[in-house]
Formats: sequence, structure tokens, C-alpha cells
Amino acid sequence: MKTGRRLYSAQRPADLGGGVWSVPVPIPGNPLGYTLVYAIESPAGPVLVDAGWNHEDAWAALRDGLAAVGVDVRSVRGVVVTHHHPDHAGLAGQVREASGAWIAMHEADAALVRLIRGLPDGSHRDFQAEMMRRAGAGSDADAVQRSARPDAPAQPDLELRDGDLVDLPGRVLRTVWTPGHTPGHVCLHLEDADRLFTGDHVLPGITPHIGIYPYDRQDVDPLGDFLASLTRVAELGDTEALPAHEWTFPDAAARAAEIRDHHEDKLLRLRDLMAGLPGEPLTIWEVAERMTWNRPWSDLGPAQRGMAAAEAAAHLRTLEVRDEVHRTSGAPGDPVRFTVTSY
Ligand SMILES: [Zn+2]
Ligand SMILES: [Zn+2]
Repeated sequence: MKTGRRLYSAQRPADLGGGVWSVPVPIPGNPLGYTLVYAIESPAGPVLVDAGWNHEDAWAALRDGLAAVGVDVRSVRGVVVTHHHPDHAGLAGQVREASGAWIAMHEADAALVRLIRGLPDGSHRDFQAEMMRRAGAGSDADAVQRSARPDAPAQPDLELRDGDLVDLPGRVLRTVWTPGHTPGHVCLHLEDADRLFTGDHVLPGITPHIGIYPYDRQDVDPLGDFLASLTRVAELGDTEALPAHEWTFPDAAARAAEIRDHHEDKLLRLRDLMAGLPGEPLTIWEVAERMTWNRPWSDLGPAQRGMAAAEAAAHLRTLEVRDEVHRTSGAPGDPVRFTVTSY
């Protein structure tokens, strides 16, 4: 694992050659620092991959950064969004307003955007708090219910499916559906240059959040999807990676394989941990407390614990699909509990 965060203040717009530029756009108050927005040249106007966080400073950085590499934001033809998260889709609406650009997104994330946009104010927080209570969160759930949330992203004009070509005249930009981090996450393969825009799916120094929402869902397996999506990228061969955070790097396939190994290892350790705790089945919260995170559990705030629990739940769900653990149901209203499956 490479070390060290890079600061936004040290980033500059860059000409990556071949009609591709990167523009760092800050994420205010977030340790991730910045989103790398890419502009791809075409005879019919540039297309952006992602747009950045919806904030005044981020908008100024995007507009001025594009201008610095010779792109007028008003000339943008389209914005293809790798996934619906606010650090990617946040500014897409403002770019569309400035230029008349289309916004494209995978159909599964477009459906989520419709859902989020349709929610009455505050109901998202109620949903999250209720989900945390069902996982055994206790008072951490109350804190989350009081927290603020970013604005919903703009509804896309175009919905993408796996294999679709993005409307980029004179170039070949293909949609590679890579569910896991979100259900509709896509990587974009610039086939004429053998470059892969990896979004949050494959990052050089960190791994993306893989959670399950609500935590006790049994009809999906996001981590299983993510592992399959990593295999998909690993099979693309030696392709240059242009990720949405951190920095560009030469071999997307090698890094995808490394991240897959990291999660397989985490699954193995979680199974061992569950096997070493015979007796009472554990709530998702109790499992999360016992797993290893980048900081001690006691140092994590309620929202971070919520994300850790979602990640624990995703790993438990994959182990359940693999028949390594199973859930037990107690009295109605009690949190769901997991225990190791013994043979
Ligand atoms: Zn994301
Ligand atoms: Zn991101």
C-alpha cells in the first residue's frame, strides 16, 4: 500500500496527452481532498468524466481549471458520471446549466438518484437511523438522525448499460459496468487510447467503501459484486488507470487484483473471528466493533461507525452467500444476528 494523502493545494490541472486533461476539484472538509475530473477532447466539444462536489469553491476550481487547460466550461458536450456520489455527480447539474451538456449515468445509479430526489426532507436520515437501530447501534443512531446531508444530484438525461458507447464523436469510450461501490458504478474504457477511467472502483492507495444498505438486506451482495467487478478490470489487461481520487497510475489490472486479495483476506479474517467467538450470535454492530479499521473503534464518530457497520454487513453477507456464516432471527424488532456455520 502506498502511503500518504496528497493535499489539494499541491494539485494542478494537467495535460495527460492524447486529448485528455485532469482537473483537481476540492471536496471541502473531506480528508479525500479532491476529485480528479477528466476532460476528453472531441471535435464536437469536450466530455467530462465526473464533475466534483457541489460547492462554490469546487465550481470555481472546475471552471478555472478547465480554462487553464483551454476548455471553456460553456463548450462542454456532456458529463458522464461514474456513480451517483456527491463528490462525482454533485456539480454535473451546474455544468449542464452552464453549457447545455447532457448528463449520463448507469441506469442503476440513475434509479437511486430518482429515489433520493423523491424523498421528503429528513426522511433519508430517519431511514439511516432506523437501519442503525436494527443493527444494534444504540445511541450512535440518534446522532446520525441529527446530521446534515448533501443535496441530491441532478437527474441524468441519458442512462447507460454495460457495453454502451458514450456519445463522444471521433473516439471510442465504452461503459464497463463495475457494481460494488454503488449498484451502478461504471468504469469508462477509452479504447482508442487503452486508458481506463476507474472512478472510485480502483484507486491506487486506498480501497473504496463497500457497504450494504440497509445493513440487514438479504437480496443483494455488494461485496460479491465488487469482487466480480475487480476481476472484470483485472481481465482488461495492462491499461493505464485514471482514477477519480489520488493519482493516475500505470496498471489498473494489477491494482484490481491487489484489492481483490485484500478483501478475500478480510473475509478470511472475519470468518476466523466469528469462529473464535462461539456462543451468542452477534449483531452487525458487535461484529463491526471487533473488526480492524484504520482507527480504533472508540475514535470513530457515529457516522463513521455507521459506514464501518455497513462494510461489516457487506462482508457478513458475502460470507453468508458462501455458506460460511448465517443469520438468526430473534423476537420481532430485535436486531439481526450472525453466527459462524459449522460443518
Ligand atoms: Zn464514491
Ligand atoms: Zn469518490
